[in-house]
Amino acid sequence: MNVIREDISKKLNIALDGPAGSGKSTVAKALAASYNILYLDTGAMYRACAFKLVKEGVSVQDSDKVKALMENIDLTVQYIDGVQHTFLDGEDVSAQIRQNEISMLASTVSTYPFVREKLVQKQREIAKNQPCVLDGRDIGTAVLPDAPFKFYLTADSKVRAQRRLNELREKGNTQMDLTTLQKEIEERDKQDMNREFSPLRQAPDAVVVDNSNMNAEQTLAFIRAKIQEKI
Ligand code: C5P
Repeated sequence: MNVIREDISKKLNIALDGPAGSGKSTVAKALAASYNILYLDTGAMYRACAFKLVKEGVSVQDSDKVKALMENIDLTVQYIDGVQHTFLDGEDVSAQIRQNEISMLASTVSTYPFVREKLVQKQREIAKNQPCVLDGRDIGTAVLPDAPFKFYLTADSKVRAQRRLNELREKGNTQMDLTTLQKEIEERDKQDMNREFSPLRQAPDAVVVDNSNMNAEQTLAFIRAKIQEKI
């Protein structure tokens, strides 16, 4: 269903930011599908950088080695049947980068300004050529500060941990428990919110959506209504 006028949809960039498990990717995917525009998961790019470090056996603390690796990283995003796939060194790593162990490493590697600069450049390149929904931590504040539609999704950390746990269980991971996951999520949020470069912040002009008591459909409906109000 494409309800946005064609002239507007050409400039349609929607920024969705928020902490881990706030439902950004589920909502971003559905939003992009409903407007028939592209969805860019920017977290996947940071995750691929983290995966590169694991692959090469480089410690994330070793900034010189991390910098050297990032200078020539072969990282691309491709769309296959409308679905984003992340390629590293020519290999589709979309599934591997979703492993829980990669999450915190992605957060740590994303604190380096040279990593952010490189990925932000790629993200802007993609966004400037077509209307799209981008989700991440710094879309409304740094990647696309002029985006006409900005949302900051959040929810209680226990609710967010439960959502992540359900996702992991669906993938067959039964090792993780709710308390550990909640602690991990809170630690990651803390690191993302307190880093020096482009910390996770709500853009002043973003609409805040606390979806602790909303499901994905309700969150989507709320966001779509806000977008329709503005156009
Ligand atoms: O969204 P996702 O959980 O896949 O992101 C992994 C990590 O990548 C985040 O915890 C965050 O540190 C980093 N990230 C970021 N900026 C973005 C997207 C993700 O710093 N735009």
